[in-house]
Amino acid sequence: MRSALGGPRVLLRRLREVMAEPVSAQERLDKIVVLIAANMVAEVCSVYVLRVDSTLELYATEGLNRNAVHLTVLRADEGLVGLVASEANPINLSEAQAHPAFSFRPETGEEIYHAFLGVPILRAGNTLGVLVVQNRARRTYSEEEVEALQTTAMVLAEMIASGELSALAKPGAEPAVHRSLQLKGATLNDGIALGYVVLHEPRVVVTNFIADDVAKEQKRLEAALATLRADLDVMLERGDVADGGEHRDVLEAFRMFAHDRGWVHRLEEAVMTGLTAEAAVERVQSDTRARMLRQTDPYLRERLHDLDDLADRLLRQLLGHDHASHRGALPDNAILVARSMGPAALLDYDRKCLRGLVLEEGGPNSHVAIVARALGIPAVGEIANATGIVEPGDAVILDGVTGDVYVRPTVDLEAAYAERAKLRARRQQQYLALRDKPCVTRDGEAVTLMINAGLAVDLPHIDETGAAGVGLFRTELQFMVAPSFPRTSEQLALYRSVLDAAHGKPVTFRTLDIGGDKVLPYMRNIEEENPALGWRAIRLGLDRPGLLRSQVRALLRAAGGRDLRIMFPMVAAVHEFDEAKTLVERELTHLRRHGHKLPDRVEIGTMIEVPSILFQLDELLDRVDFLSVGSNDLVQFLYAVDRGNARVANRFDALSAPVLRALKAIVDRAIAHGKPVSLCGELASQPLGALTLIGLGYRSFSVAPSAIGPVKAMVLELDAKRAQELVCGLIAKPLGAASLRDKLTAFAEAEGLPV
Ligand code: PEP
Ligand code: MG
Repeated sequence: MRSALGGPRVLLRRLREVMAEPVSAQERLDKIVVLIAANMVAEVCSVYVLRVDSTLELYATEGLNRNAVHLTVLRADEGLVGLVASEANPINLSEAQAHPAFSFRPETGEEIYHAFLGVPILRAGNTLGVLVVQNRARRTYSEEEVEALQTTAMVLAEMIASGELSALAKPGAEPAVHRSLQLKGATLNDGIALGYVVLHEPRVVVTNFIADDVAKEQKRLEAALATLRADLDVMLERGDVADGGEHRDVLEAFRMFAHDRGWVHRLEEAVMTGLTAEAAVERVQSDTRARMLRQTDPYLRERLHDLDDLADRLLRQLLGHDHASHRGALPDNAILVARSMGPAALLDYDRKCLRGLVLEEGGPNSHVAIVARALGIPAVGEIANATGIVEPGDAVILDGVTGDVYVRPTVDLEAAYAERAKLRARRQQQYLALRDKPCVTRDGEAVTLMINAGLAVDLPHIDETGAAGVGLFRTELQFMVAPSFPRTSEQLALYRSVLDAAHGKPVTFRTLDIGGDKVLPYMRNIEEENPALGWRAIRLGLDRPGLLRSQVRALLRAAGGRDLRIMFPMVAAVHEFDEAKTLVERELTHLRRHGHKLPDRVEIGTMIEVPSILFQLDELLDRVDFLSVGSNDLVQFLYAVDRGNARVANRFDALSAPVLRALKAIVDRAIAHGKPVSLCGELASQPLGALTLIGLGYRSFSVAPSAIGPVKAMVLELDAKRAQELVCGLIAKPLGAASLRDKLTAFAEAEGLPV
């Protein structure tokens, strides 16, 4: 390119004219490649478009053999063009044929060209094709030329995304931009959903790419950057972010990037090539996203995410959009797609319209996943670049059972899933019909089924499921989803509403189980080597009794004139239980002295989730009113396997002799002491798990609300005596297989049990 600055700007202006001409798509493409070649003084300019079958088809060329257009098709990883596409990065070579990836296609006649510059055609971080210029001379393209070609590629990206090229494609070989995709993620909540994409943070749509007046665009960019920096300063200085909390770190990273010379320079350069300020931001953002997708280092990915967010803020600044998301105004059948989302944001949406949730980030223990489960919304996480891949309004199927997300599904797939969804709905109807049936096995053993809960949105489930009560109310969830520490009055109000909703059925409140993976964003985080084994749950409660005391007080007051059940999490030694119980008794005395109405009865129990307590069962049972086994943590600690670490979480099975022997010891001792015992871990939420537990002697479970139906359906068909013979027989034998799951499943099948 002769004139480093004049060239691209003139080119962009000419491109704008071509884009507006009423010609066919092929003619437009042909004109574009001629324009680019002429402007860049290149002998060749070619456009390759990525197709649904993941190959790259030559769509237009100036300089190569014209007959090769629509005939030359490269594999996505073939040749230099394939490399540009798969790496989503420009390649600039003075001697292309010396590059190991060079592959020669005789039909194109490109053997006489030496210099090669290829840039990806990117949109929201996705590769849509490749734009190439070539020269006979062995020359290296300047940085400005690379920049100019990338800018031009942006215009092509819009053209491809508009769907204009579809008319040129053979069936089955359409441009990939709107292809059906199967994306694999991680299950956050099961269930199946069919619906249409709603972006939680609507993408800022840039419609005006090409600047009329470059100097004016430079000023706009400068002004927007200045405002952005000033806003960040104000937000940081206002100090309304918790000290050391997540939020402050993010803002500080934003401020650092907003002053980052490299980033600002890239934006300025993009404006210099003739883009409007907003198009320049979008270009740099698209590069960031493409880099983010290739980055494997979690820390660097996080920083690229910050940079992406910052670009978003800058775009909104330039276009005058505020940062608000849809909230209430949802279409029917909405599938919400977001990078990440806070729990409160999800609660802001109208539940009636929400069918599903897709997140780029967020593991099963993330707070938003907890809320999705409470709301009963199928959800999938860990879908890379989900917000860049989908378009608002796209059809989506979300399979929360397998963790698959299908974007723009085929008609056949949609029909198959609609059928599955109908089947599930029918099954739900059947479960509903069991609601008022007594939960008794075929041989007359009564089994108590309660639900796990933790948020106000869980409460309708008590009535809907016909559960016998709430066996585990996780009080920490209120703290986890709140933006700041819930005041005692807010705790009191929630506990009261839980007892109201239970209409006299028992509710077991577990005191705060924070620490470990359950972090409160507004509380100073203590750095610990091993948070799961660290300062958490009852340990924190006893060391900082102020917090536990105010919670216990709220519980006692909420239950004035009613029965109350309190249980402590993660008790590892009998003396911890003694101390916690003493604290409750002191609070009772305190409230009595102040004339408060007290609960009619207070029962105090503990979770069994730390192995050490298995060797203090007799002493513990002398003291407690009841036990509840937390099998999630108990199995984690018995096998020393992190329950949240996918690499090891499935290494051991809870349905194995060592775990079942431990569980049997607990139920046997509890029965011997005449103390009630229940189990509230996930194990009881699976019908096969519940079957096994009944075989061990358990008769009370607290399960996910959605598990009440399936577990009850199994119980009604079960012969408890036969289950007991099988399970106790299996664990009494010398050990063999790592898991007893197969044998238990075979039993269930032979007995015709729905597991
Ligand atoms: C458990 O550990 O099994 C349990 C029910 O508690 P949580 O899952 O809340 O840790
Ligand atoms: Mg636990």
